Amino acid sequence: MSQSDEHSVRFGSRTIRFTLKQSRRKTLGISVNPDMTVTVTAPEGKDMEAIRKVVKKRAPWILRQQSSFEKTRPVVAPRQYVSGETWRYLGRQYRLKILQGKPEGVKLKSGYLTVHVRDRDDVRRIKTLTEEWYREKALNYFTVKVDFCYEKLRKYEIRRPVFRIRKMKTRWGSCTKGGVVLLNPELIKVPSHCVEYVIMHEMCHLKHHDHGTEFYGLLSRVMPDWERRKGRLDWVACEVLPLGTP
Ligand SMILES: [Zn+2]
Repeated sequence: MSQSDEHSVRFGSRTIRFTLKQSRRKTLGISVNPDMTVTVTAPEGKDMEAIRKVVKKRAPWILRQQSSFEKTRPVVAPRQYVSGETWRYLGRQYRLKILQGKPEGVKLKSGYLTVHVRDRDDVRRIKTLTEEWYREKALNYFTVKVDFCYEKLRKYEIRRPVFRIRKMKTRWGSCTKGGVVLLNPELIKVPSHCVEYVIMHEMCHLKHHDHGTEFYGLLSRVMPDWERRKGRLDWVACEVLPLGTP
């Protein structure tokens, strides 16, 4: 991937922020992404003032695109832990069903995420039970996916990583300097091809620690469609956690 840069232009009372990517193409391209960010692809060495002029000229179109994405974007409401709520598991939607009774536990079956709990008004207990259930599912699923990614990366002399599940407020995953991959348990709520993208991204950091050309070169070799997966993750992310995508 080429170098990128953050810029903005004023249009009336609005500010349009965009990421500038330089490329070998001859013409300038503007795209509005589902997460409402704007990407401008410009020929290498093109004058910054000229670029801003074009972005300003296309501002009405950019704002229209953004507002249409905003309208279709799902709204995040805080969890109530009551029957009928929509919950997600690997990108699919399930209805929460709270049942009073023992033994306590969580099951995923025919469209429902069913929680058996001693006291159905005990929201804290329901929260603990569901969190434990998601965490265990995440642990098993991420183990399989780390192995899957490792098979694709092993020929690049990457050690089999150790991964840990860690709650993070602003990230899906990260990779420590010591080679430990940290994964957000919330990731189990997004589609599997997005889970694979995050794990592959973090595991490529085992070889290249920054987001340089070599890093993206490796990522594109082992996962040629990573940009599509990232786009999808940006799109579903707002429903799960308001996180930035790596
Ligand atoms: Zn990264």
